[in-house]
Amino acid sequence: MIQVDLHNHTTFSGDSFTTPKALVEQLVVHPTIKAAAVTDHGSIEGVSAVKALAAPYPDILIMPGVEITTPRGDILVLGTEELPPTPWTVEAVVDFAKETDCVSVAAHPFREWGLGESAATSGVDAIEILNGGSSAIANRKARDLAREFGLPGVAGSDSHRPSDLFSVYTEIQASLDVDEILKAIKKGLISVFAAEKSIRF
Ligand SMILES: [Zn+2]
Repeated sequence: MIQVDLHNHTTFSGDSFTTPKALVEQLVVHPTIKAAAVTDHGSIEGVSAVKALAAPYPDILIMPGVEITTPRGDILVLGTEELPPTPWTVEAVVDFAKETDCVSVAAHPFREWGLGESAATSGVDAIEILNGGSSAIANRKARDLAREFGLPGVAGSDSHRPSDLFSVYTEIQASLDVDEILKAIKKGLISVFAAEKSIRF
């Protein structure tokens, strides 16, 4: 069983203040969360930067990923180190994730830039039911939608600054291995939690 924050932005996102170094440092010192996804906006450059800094630490894992803005809403692709082919439509991003054995997630479906109820029928593998930047109401609606349609629900802080890191997390029945984590998400072997207290510097 591991705890993972599946939604984080680094300075490669443009609107984030979290440097790759800050992300790795917080992961190293965190007592229980030992894996984090890097999901920058339309960029995978941060993934290699963070992975390089994390390489000396065998007890932490960086999940590669990206957050893609489609005309209908944002979708996370977890597991990828490449960008989907353009144009970035919902269908193209979902298909890309399937073809590359990655996991597609409807990010914060009931917030701005969310897919809304269409998330459930968009073909995504999972729905983000606990987003650190969404209201309780928006998260509850997302959870209800995932339940209604039998889709796995994941959690991610959607951090854009170091103090937001790991505010929520997904507990996954897997070891610190990207493929195991992706498979476990698809099987729904996951639970979501809000951290009682996030580590701040
Ligand atoms: Zn985001």
